[in-house]
Amino acid sequence: MLRRLVGVKGLVVRGARFESHGVEVEVRPRQRRARCGECGRPCPGYDTAASRLWRHLSLGRTVFWLRYAPRRVQCREHGVRVERVPWAAHDSHFTREFEKMTAWLAQRMDKTATCRLMGINWRTVGTLVQRLVTARLDPARLEELYVIGVDELSFRRHHEYVTVVVDHLKKRVVWVGEGKGEKTLQQFFDELGKERSQALTHVTMDLGAAYRAAVEARAPQAQKVFDRFHVQKLANEALDTVRRQEAGLLGGTAEGQALKRSRWALLKNPWNLTQRQGQKLSEVARTNRRLYRAWLLKESLAKGLSYHQPLRAEQHLDGWAQWASRSKLKPFVKLSKTLRRFKHCILAYISTGLSNGLVEGLNNKIRLITRSAFGFHSAKALTAMIHLCCGGIPLTPPLPVLA
Ligand SMILES: [Zn+2]
Repeated sequence: MLRRLVGVKGLVVRGARFESHGVEVEVRPRQRRARCGECGRPCPGYDTAASRLWRHLSLGRTVFWLRYAPRRVQCREHGVRVERVPWAAHDSHFTREFEKMTAWLAQRMDKTATCRLMGINWRTVGTLVQRLVTARLDPARLEELYVIGVDELSFRRHHEYVTVVVDHLKKRVVWVGEGKGEKTLQQFFDELGKERSQALTHVTMDLGAAYRAAVEARAPQAQKVFDRFHVQKLANEALDTVRRQEAGLLGGTAEGQALKRSRWALLKNPWNLTQRQGQKLSEVARTNRRLYRAWLLKESLAKGLSYHQPLRAEQHLDGWAQWASRSKLKPFVKLSKTLRRFKHCILAYISTGLSNGLVEGLNNKIRLITRSAFGFHSAKALTAMIHLCCGGIPLTPPLPVLA
């Protein structure tokens, strides 16, 4: 009965006892022949290590543990190693079933719920996910890539970065690298190789020079595409520069103080404003015409980028660039030049149909994971979590079976 409750193949149950932390089930591998923990090759025995516990799944409120004193073997290649056990990965203190269940939950639930349900902390979840992803990452994910997107994400309160590459057609993450910028993306192209790099048709990215340089060097045939969010981000930055300049000119006056506090009212979409923010915005419209003009420019650009017909978008962007260049607002004059220079890359975003919601959905999901990853100790754990949740890794967890 215990063997069926434990539900792990390849082991023999020898006994069990209740302890304060749950039920300890004494087990041993069914196969008598000891194997190297590293390579799985049958090896002669060396000695027996102290008995160890592996955390297994719970039954109701009772935690199950597997207890076994593993043998140490003398491997021809690896020297003295602890033997392989059928219920757990080498060096893990958790059974495979436990790890699979944790990963399946982490794919679907938030951080707190996963930790509470499995009774482990978030760092441990990170370690388990890392081990599972290393073993199960699909090596074919870099095949048949045509339309990809590159983006950098900050984590650990903006001190560290990862670069994420998504396959826009299959809507999944295919590569994650530590760091940001040209060098990191070069590593992706190294892994992709020359032939597959030359099959790329479109690459979406931000307007910075770093990724552009890497793509021009390694996949010069690919159309560079600048997506809406990165263009809009530049407009938001221009608007914020104008606000700070105007507040600086007004100094410590009441008007200047009011501008200092109007940041969010200006940056948010008008339909998301709270009543107070709406009041702030109408105050800006009344008292500061330069800043209000900057706000109108930001909103107008957002409209231009939301068109689905390339021709209408082009007309709007042309008109916008003219308006911005005559606006007498330096940051927007500069932005109008950038927009003119890269107009074809911005219009490509609309004409390729990449402006649809599915791509945005994937990006939002990655951002959400990055935010919840603050507790992770390394970029490796975050990388694994992104692969797990957005890389399409299929998992079959030990869920209850109803006949
Ligand atoms: Zn070995």
